Amino acid sequence: MNEIEKRSLKIIEEALDRQVSDIHFQPKENYIQLQFRIAGELHPYIQIKEQLYTKMLSHFKFQANMDIGEKRRPQNGALTLSFHGKKVSIRLSTMPTPFNESLVLRLLPQENNFSFKDLFLFPNPANRMPALIQEQAGFMILTGPTGSGKTTTIYALLHQAVSKYNRRVLTIEDPVEKISDSFTQLEVNERAGITFSEGFKASLRHDPDIIMIGEIRDGETAKIAIKAALSGHLIITTMHAKNTIGALYRLLEFGISFSDIQQTVTAVATQNLINTICPNCKGSCGPQCSSQTKRRLAVFELLSDQNLIEALAHIYNPKNPLPTYPTLRDEINKAIQLGYLPKDYNERWNDAS
Ligand SMILES: [Zn+2]
Repeated sequence: MNEIEKRSLKIIEEALDRQVSDIHFQPKENYIQLQFRIAGELHPYIQIKEQLYTKMLSHFKFQANMDIGEKRRPQNGALTLSFHGKKVSIRLSTMPTPFNESLVLRLLPQENNFSFKDLFLFPNPANRMPALIQEQAGFMILTGPTGSGKTTTIYALLHQAVSKYNRRVLTIEDPVEKISDSFTQLEVNERAGITFSEGFKASLRHDPDIIMIGEIRDGETAKIAIKAALSGHLIITTMHAKNTIGALYRLLEFGISFSDIQQTVTAVATQNLINTICPNCKGSCGPQCSSQTKRRLAVFELLSDQNLIEALAHIYNPKNPLPTYPTLRDEINKAIQLGYLPKDYNERWNDAS
């Protein structure tokens, strides 16, 4: 690896560490100013000499199959690099400026590489999920409004099931949201005759340990899924419901019997994404901050184990008290107390309905 290649990789690696979305190389009269875009905001990074930049630019253009000799017209290119086993797609664009060509690198880390624990502001209670997905059978439900990061959470969990616990995972989705080569993904396609129940029957013949169902929207889907859980499969799915307890009532509305719910459901979780601020930087992290707080993180509420037993007892007979466990609201209050959310944070609860 030559010096130019090393310097280029070091800049990208540094950017990835800081969750930079774009690296700007902005030519000035006597030097090149580098800037990092982090959570939507530009932060100055380092300055480099024009001579080094010219070589770097040629190196990037070469790697991205762009025309090295063309300096007067804007160009676009793409390349994929690997850092510590993680793939990163990079989109490059150049523009002529009075001093030199400017260059912007857009970094697109493959989202599947996010590890499960990095998705959450507070590691508990989500930490319990990887243990629950190791069970032989069960029914796990994740609720939350559209855009609450449910799919990302489930994919990260499934990746862990495959890579750490060597489980065979099959997904049935409508449509497939993120392509992954770690598990078998089946897309529902009514027009091609692949209905949900057809797909589900086929998937059972594929001998999966875990079946992920994109979303349970109706009684028919719910009944098929519960039946599979009763016959010894682990099902994980999403559902529209206001909160964790609400998801249990929803299953009853779908015509699932109380005893089937009691026998199969192992976890009901709700999550939402919040825009966090760094308590040290009072905003998004500058390049110097050691904490590098992510701007979009999930807060998580989990109903499982003893709390789930108590919640079901309450549903069975409302005279039984509801369990007390940390709710999304508690998580948000904690985030405000610790400075991850502004003191005057107005909760915006998107109703799932
Ligand atoms: Zn910070």
